[in-house]
Amino acid sequence: MVETVIGFASYYLGLARFLLFITEFVTGEKTLVAFKYHRITDRSNGDLGYLIYDVGDDYRSFEVHVAAIKRHFRIVGLSEYVDCVSGRKQPDRRAALLTFDDADFEFIKYALPVLSEHDCKSVVFAPTDFISTDKRFWHLRVTNLARSIDSDGWERLQSNASQFKGQIAQVIRQSSVADEDCRAKTCRALAYTLDQMDAEEVDSIVTELERIAAAKYTLGVNCMNWEQLTQIAEQGVAIGSHTVTHRKLARLDEQTTRSELVESKRLLEQKLGTTVTAICYPAGSFNDSVVAAASEAGYQVGFTTKPGLGSFALPGDERFRLRRVSMYGDSKYEADFHLAKMMLKRILFGKVWD
Ligand SMILES: [Zn+2]
Repeated sequence: MVETVIGFASYYLGLARFLLFITEFVTGEKTLVAFKYHRITDRSNGDLGYLIYDVGDDYRSFEVHVAAIKRHFRIVGLSEYVDCVSGRKQPDRRAALLTFDDADFEFIKYALPVLSEHDCKSVVFAPTDFISTDKRFWHLRVTNLARSIDSDGWERLQSNASQFKGQIAQVIRQSSVADEDCRAKTCRALAYTLDQMDAEEVDSIVTELERIAAAKYTLGVNCMNWEQLTQIAEQGVAIGSHTVTHRKLARLDEQTTRSELVESKRLLEQKLGTTVTAICYPAGSFNDSVVAAASEAGYQVGFTTKPGLGSFALPGDERFRLRRVSMYGDSKYEADFHLAKMMLKRILFGKVWD
C-alpha cells in the first residue's frame, strides 16, 4: 500500500525519468540493463502455490513491467545487446534486454502475447536435456512431491528416513504434511538441504524419495519442446543456452563444464538452425574457468544472476559476467517506482550491486 502511494507520487513526478536523466548527465553514459525473468504464469492458479524457486511472475504484472520498461528504455534484442556490451554499437538511447531462464512452456501462453503486443524482442535460455523429454528440474520434483504426497506415502518416507543422509533424514523425521503450511515448510526444508549437495547426489536422493512416496509428476510446470522453441524463435525470440543438464557449472570439472557448454550450443544450433551466442549459467554458478570455457566454446556473452546494470563496451572478459536485475510491481506506479529505486541504487552504489 505504502509502495503504491509512493509509486503514485513518483510516477506523476517523473522520478524514474529524472533519476535516469541525472545519472546519465553526470556519468556521461547511457543506461544499459538486462531484466531477469523465469516463468510467466497465472499466479491466481493456487495449485502452484508450493513453488519456491520458480514461483514466477503473474502475466498481468509482466504486462505492467513491459509497459513501464518501455516508457524509459528501448527494448532491444539479444544481438543488439551483445553488440552494445561488446562495443560494436555506439549507444544512442538507453537500452534494455528481457531475459527468460529455463524455457518454461507457459512462456508461449503468457509472455509471448505481451511481447508481441508491445513489439518487444527477448531471449529465452533453454537447458537442452529438458527439451522434449520428461526430465524435470530437481526442485520442481521436490515441490511436486511435497504438494501431492498422501499421509501413507509420508509415513513410508518417515519409516525409511534412516536410509537417507543425515540432514535429509532429519528433515523427513521433523517435517509433516498434515496441512498446506506443513507441506510448504517441508518442501522448503527439503529443497534448501538438497541445494547444498552435488547434482548427482541430489538426483539419486530425489529419485529415491519419489520411489518410496510413489510420486508421479503432476505439477504442470514443464520446459518447452523443440516445436515450441522453433515457434518462438520464428516469432523473434532469441534462444540462448542454459547448458545441457542445468547443473551448477562452478562445481563441475573442466571437461564436464566444456561438454555442458559445447553440447548445448551444438544441439540448439542444429535443431533451430541459428547461431547461439549467449550462455546463461544455471543457478548463477560460474567462476574464472567457466568464463574461459564459455569464451572457448564460441559464446559471445555469458549471463549471471549477479545483480547490477550493464555497460556499453565492457573490457576483457566482463561480457561473460553480465549482470541482471529483477523487475517488480503489480501496478504501473509500483513498477515505475521500482525503476526509480534501480536508478537510485546506480547513483549510490554504481553499476555493481554486491
Ligand atoms: Zn535456470
